[in-house]
Amino acid sequence: MSDFPKSDLNTVKRLPKRGHYDRETIYPIVDEALICHVGFAIEGMPFVMPTIHTRIGDTIYLHGAVANRMLNHIKQGYSVCITVTHIDGIVFARSVFHHSMNYRSAVLFGRGRVVETYEEKWKVFEALTEHIAKGRWNDARKPNEVEDKTTAIVAIEIESASAKIRSGPAGDEEEDYALPVWAGVLPVRMEFGPPEKDAPLPESVETPQYIKNYTRKGKS
Ligand SMILES: Cc1cc2nc3c(=O)[nH]c(=O)nc-3n(C[C@H](O)[C@H](O)[C@H](O)COP(=O)(O)OP(=O)(O)OC[C@H]3O[C@@H](n4cnc5c(N)ncnc54)[C@H](O)[C@@H]3O)c2cc1C
Repeated sequence: MSDFPKSDLNTVKRLPKRGHYDRETIYPIVDEALICHVGFAIEGMPFVMPTIHTRIGDTIYLHGAVANRMLNHIKQGYSVCITVTHIDGIVFARSVFHHSMNYRSAVLFGRGRVVETYEEKWKVFEALTEHIAKGRWNDARKPNEVEDKTTAIVAIEIESASAKIRSGPAGDEEEDYALPVWAGVLPVRMEFGPPEKDAPLPESVETPQYIKNYTRKGKS
């Protein structure tokens, strides 16, 4: 897998050492996230919408109701900016100034197109379902004709992208290390609780392993 070329659009300017441009770093950040935020502008007004995404190769797919304003805008070929953020820790420094967060974030740029063919749409239905839980597509009922017709899908080919990653301890000023102020990192993790069975579910239906052992790690 190759790097996205660095340009004025995707180059991390502040703390450039934290910037990454290779797909091996960017895509696991994208794939681990349950949702993304999609930024787009309509007549100069910016909107940023949270939504479920999935990735196949260099393409991000979004879906929703056929009347969805965001999708109807994007499918006309407009540019979008998609972001994904994972917070890994709260960094407490001795000085207020050096408080920070440990994070992995990705910013992707591309232009939209509508997904029309049955083959591609079906592939995306599967990918979206598998993005939520690997194995779910096989278990759940597939979309019927009405569900298919009332669902719009747009594709965004990723033309440019970057990741920015911060990890490690607080970076205080040399003279502040003597201060009796607690400093360190409070790790942040996304945690899933025990599955809550739907009430009408017969006893015979077992909880699948992919729900019992649910994790967002290793999605790529
Ligand atoms: C959880 C979290 C909290 C943050 N809190 C702050 C804060 O309080 N104050 C602050 O100044 N910054 C914060 N940042 C960093 C912020 O996202 C930008 O990196 C920052 O605004 C500096 O941008 P810039 O001026 O260098 O680049 P810009 O000119 O704004 O961006 C140029 C290009 O660099 C890339 N880029 C920039 N930032 C990121 C990123 N985070 N992830 C992936 N690609 C990126 C994009 O491709 C972008 O188009 C935070 C980031 C995260 C993930």
